[in-house]
Amino acid sequence: MHGEEVFDVIIVGAGAAGLTAGIYSARAKLSTLILNEGAIGGQMVLTEEIANYPGVEATKGYMLANTMKMQAKQFGCKIKSGLQIKSYGLEGKIKHFELEDGRKFSSRSVILTPGGRPRSLNIPGEEKFKGTGVSYCATCDGEFFTGKEVIVVGGGNSALEEAVALTSYATRVTIVHQFDHFQAFRHAVEQAEKNPKISFIMESELRSFRGEGVLQEVTIEHLPTGKTHAMKIDGVFIFAGYIPNTEELVGFVPLNDRKEIVVDAALKTNIPGVFAAGDCIAKKYRQVTTAVADGTIASLSAAEYLRS
Ligand SMILES: Cc1cc2nc3c(=O)[nH]c(=O)nc-3n(C[C@H](O)[C@H](O)[C@H](O)COP(=O)(O)OP(=O)(O)OC[C@H]3O[C@@H](n4cnc5c(N)ncnc54)[C@H](O)[C@@H]3O)c2cc1C
Repeated sequence: MHGEEVFDVIIVGAGAAGLTAGIYSARAKLSTLILNEGAIGGQMVLTEEIANYPGVEATKGYMLANTMKMQAKQFGCKIKSGLQIKSYGLEGKIKHFELEDGRKFSSRSVILTPGGRPRSLNIPGEEKFKGTGVSYCATCDGEFFTGKEVIVVGGGNSALEEAVALTSYATRVTIVHQFDHFQAFRHAVEQAEKNPKISFIMESELRSFRGEGVLQEVTIEHLPTGKTHAMKIDGVFIFAGYIPNTEELVGFVPLNDRKEIVVDAALKTNIPGVFAAGDCIAKKYRQVTTAVADGTIASLSAAEYLRS
């Protein structure tokens, strides 16, 4: 039976956080296994170019992911990918995992790093222009729109703060929001309203993205009248919310009302021996750098837990 070996650490997810936790745990001579569902590297693999990872010149996301994977394996971390976890037994001293295919694994500690995904608008063209005009991260992609015109979709704090940030690059930022008022804090709204590069299209929603090779035009519907119009645009930044990949963890670990895993400063959950790191935890900023920092902290916390 595969479950005979009890690993010191099982990590759920092989994104930036999980791979970093794997590097640290394996290097500390803890027997370490990563169980991963999708592509190794997680969201890094979806990113055409990562230009803000310190110490590394702008690189393809999949290349950074591959380097992290090789580094983890080099220290002895085992990685099993393309699988689905059916059940989690996290409460006892020994933690148990059962996969959909019947395989079983156990460990003395667990680091949960299932990441997340930006909420899509689910409209025609969105998928096609991801990375060639449609973005979900101004910090990541803002610079690519220097001297260009962009739309920001959303009316919360992220949308308004990122719209202001984008004015450092773009010549014009148009905020398209579905309501006649914003859900953001007053200060964020004021900052956007007083910025001469920002204009607003209220009570409106995007209906489609179009272009030859790259995004060139969107259709916008004015909701009260149902009238649509086309607008030429170089880029669209969507801030329609964030979905942590924690659906499978409901009932197994404490989640907040946004379905993020609740942790303390040492990245412990309230279950002894269970830690969480990366985009899945309750936090404000989600970047590769913050994910690797979390992976480090969770791994060191797990090592301390195992020693005690
Ligand atoms: C389009 C895009 C561009 C971005 N650009 C940048 C950038 O330029 N710079 C930057 O710093 N950040 C960027 N980010 C953000 C950055 O990629 C993420 O913050 C970071 O990679 C998150 O790492 P993570 O390990 O927490 O999660 P993820 O990368 O989401 O990895 C989670 C992993 O866990 C797996 N998984 C999920 N559920 C389960 C489960 N139940 N069981 C097993 N495995 C599971 C997933 O398949 C995935 O492999 C970008 C994000 C996107 C979407």
